[in-house]
Amino acid sequence: MMSDLLAVQNTADVDGGRRGMTKARARAFGAFVREIPFAAALLDRDLALVAVSREWTRQGLAPDLSLGDDAAAGGLVGPEDVGALFACAEAGVAFSRYVPTIDASGAQHVWRTEFSACRDELDGGQEPYAVMVTARDVTGYAEGVLRAERDKQRLTMALELDNLLVREYDLRTHEMYFSGHAPELQRLCTFKDDPLEIVHPDDRQRCADLVATRKLGEARVFEFKLNRDDGVETWVRSVGKIFVGADGKPEKLVNLFKDITDRRRQTEAIETLAFKDSLTGLPNRALFQHRFQEAVTASETLGEMFGLIMIDVDHFKDINDTLGHDAGDALLKRLAGMLQHAFRAGDTVARLGGDEFAVILRGLRGEADMTRPIIKLQDLLRRPIEHGGRSFTASASIGAALHGDPDADPAHMIKNADIALYRAKAAGRNRSVVFEPSMRSEVERRLELLRDVRVALDDNEFTLFYQPVVDIRENRVAGFEALMRWVHPEQGVLTPARFMPAFEDQDLSLKLGDVAFEAALAQMRAWLDQGVEFGRVAVNISSAQFRSGRLAEEIQERLARWNVPCERLTIEVTENVYMGWGSDLVSETVRRLHEAGVMIALDDFGTGYASLANLRQFPIDRLKIDKSFVQNAEDEAIVKAVITLGSSMGMKVVAEGVEDAAQLKALEHYGCDQVQGYHFGRPMPANEVAEFLKGFGG
Ligand code: C2E
Ligand code: CA
Ligand code: CA
Repeated sequence: MMSDLLAVQNTADVDGGRRGMTKARARAFGAFVREIPFAAALLDRDLALVAVSREWTRQGLAPDLSLGDDAAAGGLVGPEDVGALFACAEAGVAFSRYVPTIDASGAQHVWRTEFSACRDELDGGQEPYAVMVTARDVTGYAEGVLRAERDKQRLTMALELDNLLVREYDLRTHEMYFSGHAPELQRLCTFKDDPLEIVHPDDRQRCADLVATRKLGEARVFEFKLNRDDGVETWVRSVGKIFVGADGKPEKLVNLFKDITDRRRQTEAIETLAFKDSLTGLPNRALFQHRFQEAVTASETLGEMFGLIMIDVDHFKDINDTLGHDAGDALLKRLAGMLQHAFRAGDTVARLGGDEFAVILRGLRGEADMTRPIIKLQDLLRRPIEHGGRSFTASASIGAALHGDPDADPAHMIKNADIALYRAKAAGRNRSVVFEPSMRSEVERRLELLRDVRVALDDNEFTLFYQPVVDIRENRVAGFEALMRWVHPEQGVLTPARFMPAFEDQDLSLKLGDVAFEAALAQMRAWLDQGVEFGRVAVNISSAQFRSGRLAEEIQERLARWNVPCERLTIEVTENVYMGWGSDLVSETVRRLHEAGVMIALDDFGTGYASLANLRQFPIDRLKIDKSFVQNAEDEAIVKAVITLGSSMGMKVVAEGVEDAAQLKALEHYGCDQVQGYHFGRPMPANEVAEFLKGFGG
């Protein structure tokens, strides 16, 4: 290689008198070119090589440029470029090329060559006197270029395989080009004046909004139905971008379209499964949560006011138990329909599960916007529901909460609406309550109490006290009413007034009922064994205890287990229990107990809505007049009427809450049979009963 180089130099020396370059000049340039730290060569105007750099030789480039198309020889000018080379030498037209070569080891290289003319400005001459050639090994870069070419092919293939379509729309000339092979899609994506023409009218506004907010050069994803005459639903996903020209103005709109109809159908089916309640078709809890979150965000970012309504069907379990699940389902479907009717189309009406429904109302102006549809719903609910030839009415308890206070946490809305719902139920159901902050602490206290009662049940802190019931005609103790007490380790003996919510809680009232029965029967057994003549013991029953439908059997089993005769037991049931849902169940249970010899007392008579006529169908042995009537002198007439009526229907009447001799005298006068009250004795622990009886008899 070195000898080749010398040969070149010698040639230059010999032919030093060529056009444009003196011998001396050629020598000086030659020396300079040899030191250039990259591949460079200098040719004179006649294209004879003056000099090459050391790098040129080191990189295996041929000492002579015109080697035809033999890449392996390392030549840098192919026959096709000879003309360009002349033009460069003659007229100074620079040019560059990518030239492949193969080195000694057989590896391919790609060179980037630059040919430029040297002119001597000082000479005043414009004519080139030499040509400078530089060459850079750009093999790595060239591969990238080739790869891009391959990628382009791949892209085209992908477009076809994936049924993708690229549409380029020149915003200046209004010309449209498509790539990819999807003729049907191409037809549907072609427009005349406005790109939105291709969008189905249903989706046009939404897309227009997206377009309006799109910034120049920003890629936006759209999913919409295509506008087509034949009614076939075709969904596309489109990525669109506007490209800006050199002048900074929009130049072209490029869109990539993909037909997503199949995928869309699948996701719709999945969404229906995942987000719709199958019975009513309403959004389910998952979708509700999602929508609720949206409402929270809107209220936080836009200050939007929204409302949340919780709806709970009253005594739904009883409807299911007595009328059957079909009737229950029919009711839920009817209710779903009513809800959709009462609320606006934009409101989210969801079924959260069981008999629980919820409504989210967005964009409210005030509380009235929320209460109006609630009133409408309550009106609808009053209409009877026909099912299987039977007609029944249902009611619902409604709790509502409104969020408009920017300082309050909208995430508390669900809890607040629940609290309001609880209040509606506690106030007797079939009503609506709107949440107020003052309600919160009360509910929290209640939850705390229920927790404490649960623990106290485990710790056996509940016991029964016994209050005598006196037969005033025979002047003897007819029996005792068993009343629950909580022997609290710190607060002492607590009456039910302190734990009433526990009797209203389904689960706890069952547990307390269990405790009461076991304790009463164990006590009766003990008194029987001890020869204490206690008469009868009355046990209070809460409505939840009837729910199992097995109460009669359970009581009889217990009596048998403790070997206590049925005639020793009275059960006290309030009229609300009789009149509530599932009254068929209650009357059946009560009838069987009555037949077995258990006495049935109607408790708190006069405080509910039942009339004696309503109660005729139930086998009631005893009426207990509520103490509020007994203690209020103005209610004398009522007390008198109840006693007369009760006796005429063959019921014995017990007056509760007799505290003094005057009350007793009046009751005696009206013909009352039995009385119960502080006048004769307060509820007492079981171990005081024997003593009390002795005192009474004496
Ligand atoms: P209730 O069944 O009407 O029981 C009578 C209540 O009147 C008892 O209150 C009794 O202590 C009170 N009382 C009796 N005589 C007088 C009187 O002369 N003056 C006044 N001011 N009050 C009198 P207590 O024991 O606090 O029980 C309250 C309520 O708790 C009961 O009302 C009953 O509804 C419920 N309860 C008590 N024990 C049980 C139970 O074991 N199971 C169920 N389900 N409820 C129970
Ligand atoms: Ca009672
Ligand atoms: Ca009572």
